[in-house]
Amino acid sequence: MKKFINRPEDVERQVVDGYVKTYPGIIAKAADDIVVRARRKTGKVALVSGGGMGHEPAHLGYVGEGMLDAAVGGAIYTSPAEDRVKAAIDAVAPGATGVLLIVKNYTGDVVNFKMAASEAAEEGVNIAYVVVDDDVAVDGSSFTVGRRGVAGTVFVHKCAGAAAEAGADLAGVERVAKKVIANVRTMGVAIEPCTVPAAGKPGFTLADDEMEMGVGIHGEPGVRRAAMEPADAMVDEILEKILADLDYANARVAVLVNGAGGTPPYELAIVSNRVHDVLASRGITVVQSYMGSYMTSLEMRGFSISVLRLDEELEHLLAAPAHAVAWQEGAAAPAKEVAAPAPASVGAVPVASAHAGETRPEPSGALDPATERVARVLAAVADTLDAHKDELTELDMPIGDSDHGINMARGFDAVRAQLPELGTGDAATLLRKAAMTIISKVGGSSGPLYGTLLRKLSVAVKRAGTLSLAVFAQGLEDGLAGIEELAGGAPGDKTMIDAMVPALASLKDSLAAEVPAAEALSRAARAAADGAEATIPLVARKGRASYLGERSAGHKDPGAASFAYCLDAVAKAVTAEGIRPDAAA
Ligand code: ADP
Ligand code: MG
Repeated sequence: MKKFINRPEDVERQVVDGYVKTYPGIIAKAADDIVVRARRKTGKVALVSGGGMGHEPAHLGYVGEGMLDAAVGGAIYTSPAEDRVKAAIDAVAPGATGVLLIVKNYTGDVVNFKMAASEAAEEGVNIAYVVVDDDVAVDGSSFTVGRRGVAGTVFVHKCAGAAAEAGADLAGVERVAKKVIANVRTMGVAIEPCTVPAAGKPGFTLADDEMEMGVGIHGEPGVRRAAMEPADAMVDEILEKILADLDYANARVAVLVNGAGGTPPYELAIVSNRVHDVLASRGITVVQSYMGSYMTSLEMRGFSISVLRLDEELEHLLAAPAHAVAWQEGAAAPAKEVAAPAPASVGAVPVASAHAGETRPEPSGALDPATERVARVLAAVADTLDAHKDELTELDMPIGDSDHGINMARGFDAVRAQLPELGTGDAATLLRKAAMTIISKVGGSSGPLYGTLLRKLSVAVKRAGTLSLAVFAQGLEDGLAGIEELAGGAPGDKTMIDAMVPALASLKDSLAAEVPAAEALSRAARAAADGAEATIPLVARKGRASYLGERSAGHKDPGAASFAYCLDAVAKAVTAEGIRPDAAA
């Protein structure tokens, strides 16, 4: 177990203290496990929620104006005891017109909150409680206590909180809370488990290629464990279940794409992208949308989707202002704007006419055979990079960011896909266009560097009007200079340059000795591979690996390795083509 914690037994208290010290303007500590608003507001219904901790920012992050008045936290994933819930009630009941407890449907929570409520009622507190059970995953599962309460709870906090802030009485606030509960449905999925600090090991395990569909917020089993699927397929399955559970026909909804703690924002965005498309395709109008980690499960890598069916009242309450640590206003539809007047001509011209009379340029008859050969060589390079993609990415793991093989394969795959259309011009044009594709598709540092190499090769070909071995060597020399100029590297820095330099020297030797092209290229490829091998003991002075300093020694440079593979692919393709050393290609 690796975590940013101290002693497992201190976790809960330090989490509360951390939140309170960070946001003293919003929340304050009433006890080690109870958080209240920094500025209490009396004369209204007070809202209390809570449960086991480990779901941060729930629930203390929702304490604040327009939301909760107090949150009580039990040990990680463990309900607070009855007396602690009672202490939270006692912290807000004086001066309140009533107290509403918002409880997630887990036996421990329900029992403890219910007992505390009856004790408070006996003492004369005007109190009620609601139980949230929004998780559609568990129907028909081994859970017999009804559905679990999960991320939809945040909508209950928000709408009931707004009603209380607006002065509704206890019955009114309770009615709103129950309306939200009746109209919100949630389901989640996980791909990596979470570890309760005190337990020290994950609550469940998943194989590398497995997902848990319908997982609970404590890592409880879901509806099925299955092989990993693309994000869109997971979203589709979850929404299928949610939308079948309630009549969402023509509904106006709020939607929450919630991260489980270990899911980065960019993955949530990919999920949300699909969620919005699916809802739109079903004719469902998203009025408010939210994305982020609202109800987490420690560091679990998972997400859930909540869809709340709105009526005018809920829509209004959801949009009401709130000021709590973790509440972010939803921002689905922009405020209605007056559309800028369209230019008069636009409406008059049918879109189709833009292309009327235009004919696509036909490929100009027979293809230039030299261009075709270059296209075949580039395709061979793409094949080689595909074949070595994982290996190159693994080389980039210890001294980089594990993307080199992926970057290169993506770029050259794109070049290969373009070849049918690119292969219609001359060889120099083909190389220049390939260079542009590499620059835009490879990215990282290798994209502009390999792009520069191809561009310089293209210039050499254009200048010479042919592509011979000598021209290839010239292009390589100019490319090397271009790379050194662009990125400031030099031989010995542990980069692709260390493979290029010996390859170029070998080519020059071969040219002087009039070695046939295919053989010359094979020798150059071997020299490049040796050069790549020789980067192993080097300490990196350029690129990402240089951040590691001395620790970069002992690993082969991925860019040097990829260059050697590229040149080897060129050599093999040229051998197959049977081009002579001085052949005007
Ligand atoms: P990134 O480093 O942006 O993740 P890649 O992983 O695709 O990009 O490429 C890394 C390779 O780029 C390195 O292995 C190295 O060979 C090459 N590289 C990085 N910086 C330089 C540089 N300044 N000069 C030459 N090559 C470099
Ligand atoms: Mg990299």
